[in-house]
This record gives sequence, structure tokens and C-alpha cells, in this order.
Amino acid sequence: MVLDELGDAIRNVPDFPEKGIQFKDITPVLSDARLLDGCISHLVGEHSPDTIDVVAGIDARGFIFGAAMARELSVGFVPIRKKGKLPWDTYEESYDLEYGSNTIAIHKDAVLKGQRVLLVDDLLATGGTAAAAVNLLKKVGGELIESIFFIELGFLNGRSKLENVPVRALLKY
Ligand code: AMP
Repeated sequence: MVLDELGDAIRNVPDFPEKGIQFKDITPVLSDARLLDGCISHLVGEHSPDTIDVVAGIDARGFIFGAAMARELSVGFVPIRKKGKLPWDTYEESYDLEYGSNTIAIHKDAVLKGQRVLLVDDLLATGGTAAAAVNLLKKVGGELIESIFFIELGFLNGRSKLENVPVRALLKY
């Protein structure tokens, strides 16, 4: 499958959830079996169970892609969740949003020390969420192999917050 087909399927929704945001709606890709399959294959890319131990996904759309990637790679999946959702001992990381801040969390025993981790989310915007997720994965002792995004809003330069971690995105705006 060519990436153009995935790009054509993404629905741009102006002014959602607030004025000025161009929301990238990925649900038309999820609901189409062929597009979903192609998307997961592209996200997995050249990785294999020989090079990856676990996939970590960010709440909530990162769970959809991450769990499918983990299944494809025959490795485990780790959720990085919004604060207050994980029931066991957690580490937390806060980061600034345009207005206010947000906190995400990971179980302290989610990743074993030295495990090779792929981080995935649907979209890289300012990079605050992904940078906080990288910090959490480092705290639990994971070795970040790559951060993968379905979509990157390049004009927001989120990559600059992910120094020292290889970043890959399927579609760039
Ligand atoms: P950021 O921390 O700014 O990189 O924002 C990334 C997170 O916010 C991801 O989990 C995305 O799902 C969500 N997000 C930010 N901007 C958009 C957008 N324009 N369309 C869809 N999701 C977005």
C-alpha cells in the first residue's frame, strides 16, 4: 500500500476540539480493513522480534496502533496512560500544554531494565506528550529504539523535544 492512500483517508476537521485546531481524524483508516492493515505494516517497518522487546503506546490512540503493532511483532504491549488510570505503582511526568498542563503515567514494572522499546502514538504535534513518554520509559529502564507516529505536524517542530531518540513518521504536514 502506498502512503498516499493513507493520507487521502485522513479527515481534517477544522476547529475541533477548539477553534484554530485542525484535527486529524484517523477513524476512516481504522474502519477500513485494508488501510488499517497497511498502516500497521508501515508503522512496524523493518522492526522484528529480534530487535524489539516491547511496544509502548500513548493514551488513547497510541493504544490502537501499538497493540496491533505488538501483535504483528509478537512482543508485549505497555500502556502509557493519563494520570489516575493505572492501578499499580506508577511514575508520572507532567508537561505544559498551550493552556495548563497534563500528566501521564506508567507502571513502575511495565518494562524490564534494558528492554528495547518502540514508542508509538497517532500524532506528533508540539512533542510534549511524546517527550514525557520518553522520560517515563527511561525511568523504568527501557532502551528507546524509535519513536513512531502515524502523522507528524512538522511545522510545530515536535522532533526537537525528542533529542537522542530516532523519530519516524508515516505522513508529514
Ligand atoms: P503534542 O503533545 O502537542 O505533541 O500532542 C500530541 C497528542 O495530542 C497526541 O496524542 C495527539 O493524539 C493529540 N493531538 C495534538 N494535535 C492534534 C491534531 N491536530 N489532530 C489530532 N490529534 C492531535
